[in-house]
Amino acid sequence: MNQDLAALLLVQNDDEAIRAIEARRDALSPRLAALDKTRQRAVDDVARNDAALERELARIHALEARIAEHRERHEKNLAVLNQAHKLKEATAAMAQVETARKVLADDESELLALSRRIVELRVVATSSREYHNAMVSEQADTRAAIAAERAHIDAALAAARVKRESLVGAVSKSLFSKYDRVQSRRKANALFALHGDFSCGSCDTAIPRQRRTAMSSGQSIEVCEGCGVLLYLPIAPVAE
Ligand SMILES: [Zn+2]
Repeated sequence: MNQDLAALLLVQNDDEAIRAIEARRDALSPRLAALDKTRQRAVDDVARNDAALERELARIHALEARIAEHRERHEKNLAVLNQAHKLKEATAAMAQVETARKVLADDESELLALSRRIVELRVVATSSREYHNAMVSEQADTRAAIAAERAHIDAALAAARVKRESLVGAVSKSLFSKYDRVQSRRKANALFALHGDFSCGSCDTAIPRQRRTAMSSGQSIEVCEGCGVLLYLPIAPVAE
């Protein structure tokens, strides 16, 4: 049992190392998520600003078509006015010319306002695209560093797992499966040395008197009634 226990303690050391490596790997995720969030926000900004510009460009094209139509009508009105012979005809044609002139004036001022707005939107769209590109190249170094760190961590993890496999081979199946159940549930150490007063090395709950004798021989591993870890009596030189 002592040899078995010593072998299991080595597995436990490796499991602790594996958990530490996994924690380092997990710590990369929020860093990547923050980078992704910043990038997504910039992508969304570019799309929104481009869409706003497109909308106003469509409006100005429609307005230009309308203005061409209004100009044509105005020309016709002028021609009618020029050919009017009677006063009544001339008055009616004059009124139409005046109305069309007013419509055209309104069109022109709308065109001017819209053109100004498009200039502004172009500036905004360009600057959001520039920000996006600068941010992407700025993130490239950080992303490369994280990827390198990730590769390094994965290699360390693979090595620790291979090592664990070889260490597990030296532990009896029954003891190992007991240990593995507890450690995978706790996601922490499962095997603890008893304190000198026969209390649990993890939670200090005392071991019932009737179970102490079996443990005193160093041949038995008991489950703590308080916290469920496996307890052993550290008598002989167990570790190393
Ligand atoms: Zn306990």
